[in-house]
Amino acid sequence: MRAWPIALHVLAAGCAAPAPAGIAHEAESTVAAGVPPPPAEEAECASGGRAVAIGARPVGLAGAVPPGAGEVWLRLSCVRGATAPTLRIEAGGRSVAIALPATLHRERFEWLRAGDLRLDPGERRVALRLEGAGEVLLDRWACLPPRAAPDAAWSPGVWRSADRSIEVRAACGAAVVDPDWILHVLRQQREVVGRLFGAALERPLVLIALPAGRWPRRDAGAFQNGCAIFLRDDELHLPWRSYAHEIAHLHEDERRLDLPWFLSEGIACAVALEVEARILGEPGPVVAKRAALERLLAEGDAWHRPGGAGTNVLFLCDEEPSDESQRESAYAWSTALLEGAARLGGSRFWRRMQEAIAAEPRFRRGAAAAGGGDPAERTRGRLAGAAEALRAAVLPSGGTAETRTALDRLLSRTGLVAGGAP
Ligand SMILES: [Zn+2]
Repeated sequence: MRAWPIALHVLAAGCAAPAPAGIAHEAESTVAAGVPPPPAEEAECASGGRAVAIGARPVGLAGAVPPGAGEVWLRLSCVRGATAPTLRIEAGGRSVAIALPATLHRERFEWLRAGDLRLDPGERRVALRLEGAGEVLLDRWACLPPRAAPDAAWSPGVWRSADRSIEVRAACGAAVVDPDWILHVLRQQREVVGRLFGAALERPLVLIALPAGRWPRRDAGAFQNGCAIFLRDDELHLPWRSYAHEIAHLHEDERRLDLPWFLSEGIACAVALEVEARILGEPGPVVAKRAALERLLAEGDAWHRPGGAGTNVLFLCDEEPSDESQRESAYAWSTALLEGAARLGGSRFWRRMQEAIAAEPRFRRGAAAAGGGDPAERTRGRLAGAAEALRAAVLPSGGTAETRTALDRLLSRTGLVAGGAP
């Protein structure tokens, strides 16, 4: 436990040069030597890893106040609980408290004036702490003369659709060359996924562009964190670059589901293929991708041989394999299973699949913690739940004998269900 608040470095070279009227500082996760790092949000925030979480423990802002610039502005994101949390700001023995408005997403940073707090010239320490529940992140802060507003150049770009339901945000240092195109791609893919699933996303769709040079996940082309999608800024223009895949995951998150790993990724990958086919048309790269999945189901790979003895490893581990070649195999088998089921289930398969997984109590978030018990038993239960959901989605009213046989064969070939029987 340390007594004095964490001192955040002042970054001279930020996104943009500060205007001469004031001074802008960038909160970042590095701290003075010898001081343990604050609970920084790694790279998963709009500020590209520089935002700092504000909690009950004071966080300090270190930096000199230039003459005549005594007003503090903070660029914050706030996901609040039932009531608005209060931010307590202390400097030079004075203190103000401001109720924080919700910015809805943790990546949606907005500038906020720190009430009537006035800093004296030369003041070097400001401490922030949160009173009440909420997730609050500080991206940057500034000292400005009275009645001045933060310079637009101090914030990375934000572009919104006319109805405000789609938002593209550049992280610090990211380039968004053609925001209209990105908004178009997001809208188009959100609509197609929504139509397939028979449900629209409730929250605004937010995409954060991260600088390619600071991309945090070598093994992933995109990721999402439950509320926003993250893409590299040099791949934003590619319509097949994981937009639909991550949107599918956002649906899962909104429904508060905790799916088996293969089911979650299988749904996302197979939906992305379907969206790609619908948007880019066939023939295209989709044809080759689907042919590869069919080959996998027919011949298998080093991991699993259809019809052979043993269980497909995919169904034994409920998480992404860390080994690269195994990961490839795991994604391929997951996609092959869901893609095959979608083909058998016809046009309303995805809608029924969404209904089936939402109705499955074993897939509710928190069900595992509530259930306790033997982990192996739990995995078996989740596998059975997946097989049941697939049956419900492919065979809504029992299906024909031919479809039943084809589904049994699919479940058996992937190794989800031996011999196709639960
Ligand atoms: Zn995924």
